[in-house]
Amino acid sequence: MDKKNEFLIPVSGLALGSHTFEYEINSDFFAGMDYSEVQQGKVSVKLDIDRQETMLTLHFDLNGSVRVPCDRCADEFDQHIESQQDFFLKLGTENAEESDDVAVVSPDLNEYDIRPLVYEYIILAIPMHRVHPEGQCNPAVIEMLNREEAPAEEEEATDTIDPRWAALKDIKLNDK
Ligand SMILES: [Zn+2]
Repeated sequence: MDKKNEFLIPVSGLALGSHTFEYEINSDFFAGMDYSEVQQGKVSVKLDIDRQETMLTLHFDLNGSVRVPCDRCADEFDQHIESQQDFFLKLGTENAEESDDVAVVSPDLNEYDIRPLVYEYIILAIPMHRVHPEGQCNPAVIEMLNREEAPAEEEEATDTIDPRWAALKDIKLNDK
């Protein structure tokens, strides 16, 4: 795994004006992260950089899919994602203000690693609610869920746990 990191963009050596970089993200990208909640995916990333005297404006355009478990049936599927993000690299002194979309780097910096940004944008682009397109869930699981959703009347009256406590129980169980 010692190949050149294509996600290192030139900074000090980059000429003023517009530059375009393109990347094809695949499983190797996620495998290269220390920890990734996504393992598989195919995402095209187009990065337009506008290099000015004291600032680089990075415009990211992501489009593709990542493999995630379905919230409804738990089978994995390819969730479509797309996202556009701007990031600003200011060239200057270190104590200037930074934020989620601004970083300050030395004007002498050779290269800047955009890999963490690309990863973050992919993760942010995954919707909170991840389900198969309508009708494509695992039919066996859906049938089972439908059966569970119609409980017997007496069960409901006596044995129900306050949903707030049920939620706490789940937290405990998931805690490692
Ligand atoms: Zn599903």
